[in-house]
Amino acid sequence: MTPDAARSAVRRLVRWFDRDGPDLPWRRTRDRWAVLVSEVMLQATPVARVVPYYEDWMRRWPAPGDLASVTVGEALAAWQGLGYPRRARNLHAAAGVIAAHGWPAPARYEDLPGVGRYTADALRCFADEQPVLPEDVNVRRVVARRFPDGWPGAPRGRSWHAGQAMMDLGREFCRARAPRCDDGCPMRAGCPAADAGVVDEVTPRTRRQARYEGSMRQRRGHLLRALATDGRVSVGSDPEAAASLVAEGLADRRGVVLVPAGSAA
Ligand code: SF4
Repeated sequence: MTPDAARSAVRRLVRWFDRDGPDLPWRRTRDRWAVLVSEVMLQATPVARVVPYYEDWMRRWPAPGDLASVTVGEALAAWQGLGYPRRARNLHAAAGVIAAHGWPAPARYEDLPGVGRYTADALRCFADEQPVLPEDVNVRRVVARRFPDGWPGAPRGRSWHAGQAMMDLGREFCRARAPRCDDGCPMRAGCPAADAGVVDEVTPRTRRQARYEGSMRQRRGHLLRALATDGRVSVGSDPEAAASLVAEGLADRRGVVLVPAGSAA
């Protein structure tokens, strides 16, 4: 694919997004905090499930200082049901840093707790509208298939739209399993992977999801749910899972009971 063809494909992608991109609450803002909250929630959690959590979170804590002023236990309770609660803990820690010192310069977003390269790039693109493409595993897959010579960049001033469009394309059409090449993909015309019949070959291997039933993740989730409901749970009900929550700061131990992290002694 020539560079001109790749750039023209991105223009088409942006037009598709302008026309068909869903209106999601975090797409109506360029506020860094809102973008950070949405990006952290969207890691490993489907969009439809995130929306009510995001709206509730932003209603309660519309700025980093608001979240920093409550205990991490309150943040964890609000996160209940979203999964991977370490993300709530990291958000709370990041809120504390931002409340105390302000936002780092965009080039230093990775200094914030829990913010890796992808999330930092998402902040640069979706909040600051810098010309950067945030590449999570889905976007990397779309780039590998549709732009095998590398991401050609977005038209001037349209990086935000191109980034959002790539997210939608990866989620709705260019999926790891059962990609919808001939089922409405807006980028089918001229797609190198589809034309060559090698779509599956350029699908990055996905790790098989570890069995959830009986796993430590399930056991920890069980304790966290009990904590959110009852405010305390016996350590003896699952000492191993309890120790793991305490080690990660997701709960505190008071003698023989576990209590929400950060709650008063
Ligand atoms: S045609 Fe297939 S491989 Fe190409 S962008 Fe669309 S879904 Fe992905």
